[in-house]
Amino acid sequence: MEYRRCGRSGLLLPALSLGLWHNFGSIDDYEQCRRMVHTAFDNGITHFDLANNYGPPPGGAEETFGRILKQDLKSHRDEIIVSSKAGWPMWPGPYGDGGSRKYLMASLDQSLKRMGLDYVDIFYHHRPDPDTPLEESMRTLDQMVRQGKALYVGISSYSAADTEKAVKMLRSLGTPLLIHQPKYSMLERWVEHKLLTVLEENGVGCITFSSLAQGLLTSKYLNGIPRDSRAASARGNGALEAAVITDALLGKVRHLNGIAQRRGQSLAQMALGWVLKDRRVTSVIIGASRPEQVEDSLQCLRNYYFSDDELEEIEGILGKEVGVD
Ligand code: NDP
Repeated sequence: MEYRRCGRSGLLLPALSLGLWHNFGSIDDYEQCRRMVHTAFDNGITHFDLANNYGPPPGGAEETFGRILKQDLKSHRDEIIVSSKAGWPMWPGPYGDGGSRKYLMASLDQSLKRMGLDYVDIFYHHRPDPDTPLEESMRTLDQMVRQGKALYVGISSYSAADTEKAVKMLRSLGTPLLIHQPKYSMLERWVEHKLLTVLEENGVGCITFSSLAQGLLTSKYLNGIPRDSRAASARGNGALEAAVITDALLGKVRHLNGIAQRRGQSLAQMALGWVLKDRRVTSVIIGASRPEQVEDSLQCLRNYYFSDDELEEIEGILGKEVGVD
């Protein structure tokens, strides 16, 4: 495993982290979850990314992870970075959504209980909330660190402009912003416009999500939608939907797959490597539905160098108009 420094902090993160958004709920096979976490950790993936609402049901992934921690990894707690988040709807009523101090504080306490932890390593505000003053959310993050419930804090999906504001606020409070978690892949490149520059200038790390575009940037959809795929399971909440897998998109994916083959890689490996080639990216959070996918994705670290010709060819395929949201 390669470990990269997270911005200008003291923290090193693995170039690949494992995310538990899908396939770790209470409805999923526990032994399979356990195997995926073990495969990751045994290969140096020391960082596991969670959130209050990951499941199903919401909270289910934190319970699964807490069980694995207790059963197998308790003695390794100091070798593991655990993150959680709050910001999206979690419980009914006015206090289970958004960015209020009331919601974030209560949610972190619930997450700690579900995972059986005294503290998380990183706590994120999961999304910008235009209805809550930024000061309130940032002060709450600062206070979580002071209370010892989080070691570091982050934000997710904040715009470049709001990120700059958050950086200033947190700096003045004495709790520097550690990390930003944006969506970034060959098919979703908004971070290239300004965010990555803002993060680099302010010494903030970047950890990307859905860098395989939820499986689209692998070879799995080239011949139709497999029954055991995310697009076939229709779980909602932003999960990949069959309707976005158009012929035009598949044409591009096939072309990319050809380049990956020439490079001697799977398309998944090339797509992850393409994100990791930028040193401003600290880590890529991978998702997986089985341990073999973790093993396959890990091989991206063998080659994330791209020649100018390859980059040019990839740009030609992607074009600027491509998006899957
Ligand atoms: P990916 O883009 O990595 O998609 C993961 C899916 O791709 C897997 O479930 C699997 O799909 C397929 N896959 C993975 N590896 C391979 C492989 N080697 N070969 C073939 N198929 C493969 O990421 P996610 O969208 O799952 O997001 C990753 C993590 O990022 C989440 O778990 C979460 O921690 C974080 N995240 C954060 C968000 C935020 O708002 N901050 C939002 C979304 C995610 P299949 O199930 O079909 O087999």
